[in-house]
Amino acid sequence: MNKFRPKDALISPRFAGIPTFMRLPLVMDPHQLDVALVGIPFDGGTSYRSGTRFGPREIRVQSVLIRNYNPVLRINPFEKMRIADYGDIDVNPLSIEDTFQKIQQGIRTIVAAGARPFSIGGDHSISLPILRALAREHGYGQLGMIHFDSHIDTLDEYFGQKLSHGTPFRRAIEENLFDPQKIIQIGLRGQIYDETDFDFNNDHGITMVPIEELFEQGILFVINKIRELNGEKFYLSFDIDVIDPAFAPGTGTPQIGGVTSYQALQLIRTLKEIDFVGCDLVEVSPPYDSAGITSLLAANLIFEILCVL
Ligand code: MN
Ligand code: MN
Repeated sequence: MNKFRPKDALISPRFAGIPTFMRLPLVMDPHQLDVALVGIPFDGGTSYRSGTRFGPREIRVQSVLIRNYNPVLRINPFEKMRIADYGDIDVNPLSIEDTFQKIQQGIRTIVAAGARPFSIGGDHSISLPILRALAREHGYGQLGMIHFDSHIDTLDEYFGQKLSHGTPFRRAIEENLFDPQKIIQIGLRGQIYDETDFDFNNDHGITMVPIEELFEQGILFVINKIRELNGEKFYLSFDIDVIDPAFAPGTGTPQIGGVTSYQALQLIRTLKEIDFVGCDLVEVSPPYDSAGITSLLAANLIFEILCVL
């Protein structure tokens, strides 16, 4: 019996022979980093179609194609910043509470070392413990957020549970992790449960940009909306389901009528002047993917986001 062999199957052990994110070095000391790409292979907050626990692994595999230089933004992010694969946070697939503790501690270690966490999910529930760690470091009630998603993720509960991938930002606002007036949600669409679903957002002054408004008013309109927030420190949360399922089928809660992959690049490029204290890309679910196209898209979006950090 090899004592180094884990007792149980792990979703994404740190040294599994799979490629690192973008063929970057694996660096476990956050003091050496400006940006830590960290996988969070957890989908215990998913209400129906699970599978995002395999997101970090498959995005790593597809990300080997990513090159160094962005000719549109004229930047090589790997020259500008020290970026590496920080491995995965070891989650507990049987406990959302224990997983959240582990995520918060893992992110806190990164942030306390002066690096910025770029978390790759995993379902959207993981944003909550990340924000708890960031708010502790950057000030409670201070953070704003640019949130790309087809869903608001500010519902109160699912099946009587307060922690899930549909509720993280409601909890974050209740816990005073955000200034809700500095939150913008872009790309909202699809059926909702009830017309009162938006009440919480409206009561707290969250800016919502439904997909119809985005398509009718254009990218410039979104830029102006972001500028109006007038915030200083932002978190970026990118749910892959903001993109149309024709381009990103590999996700748990697809909504038709979304942005194209090109429009996603355009939207990310508008964020150049914003100061992000951390970011995440979530909800890539490889079991629902087709030939890895969603993971490949995610890898490219991660690169594009790195170029605006
Ligand atoms: Mn979401
Ligand atoms: Mn979503």
